[in-house]
Amino acid sequence: MRIGRHMPTRSKIVQAAITAQQIGCEAIQIFASNPTAWRPPTGGEADCAAFAQTARELDLDPVVLHAPYLINLAAPDESNWEKSITLLTWTLKRGALLGARYVVFHTGSHRGAGVEAGCQRVAQGITRILSETPPEVMLLLENDVGAGHSLGHSFENLAAILALLPAYQDRLGICLDTAHLWGAGHDISTALAASQVLDQFDALLGLERLKVLHLNDTEKALGSHRDVHARLGEGIIPEEGLRALLDGSRLEHVAVLMETPIKTDEQDKEDWGHDAGEIAKAKNLLSTNLTHDI
Ligand SMILES: [Zn+2]
Ligand SMILES: [Zn+2]
Repeated sequence: MRIGRHMPTRSKIVQAAITAQQIGCEAIQIFASNPTAWRPPTGGEADCAAFAQTARELDLDPVVLHAPYLINLAAPDESNWEKSITLLTWTLKRGALLGARYVVFHTGSHRGAGVEAGCQRVAQGITRILSETPPEVMLLLENDVGAGHSLGHSFENLAAILALLPAYQDRLGICLDTAHLWGAGHDISTALAASQVLDQFDALLGLERLKVLHLNDTEKALGSHRDVHARLGEGIIPEEGLRALLDGSRLEHVAVLMETPIKTDEQDKEDWGHDAGEIAKAKNLLSTNLTHDI
């Protein structure tokens, strides 16, 4: 299992990779464009190549892109759907330039059209996107807290979408976010409960399809359908459950990436020393496991 975090880039992607390695990351996630904008940047190909090379040299593996939040492949509205396809297609192409192995995206909201219609819509969108993008970049569906009409909060839902895409099995996988699991009502509070959640995932999707685990704590209640991330130990998800999820024997192939708030000073400058401690904390959850196994 390789541990890393989502890194802010402030348009300096090479520096983000260097900082990630300095604070102890073995893997990295970034946004390739403004997460709340439809229009991606133009140019920047040389920067992408420099980032890919730096990540390789620093052994940051995998490189993961998080797609913009606006993307909604389940959208019943035609213009919204087309814009979502265009932006996610761009993100996968950019992923190839950045040396990314995975692009993670949120499955979106059917906005009242119904779960089945929403899943069909997502599958149609994915078919168009994957037929036009480099085969080396995989698309990962991230689980959701399930607020409103959003899809992806249940494993059945994620499995239903993948089942509609048999031709692209090797280009599609899943990203599980621990705060989203919690928000959606999946109890991961104890070792037993967490292992039952993994059993359920395995039965419906197969653990080999899980490629990325977003390791986040949250202060929101189990089943609250709220998506607010907290640093490890600063929320209410018990450490016992998180440690059980990180049990390397079941998820050895999975990259663990934190998306926790980074501490900043009065000038809004990141406290990387503090965050290095957070990465160490996550690694410790893993090593406690190893000692446990022996
Ligand atoms: Zn996400
Ligand atoms: Zn996440």
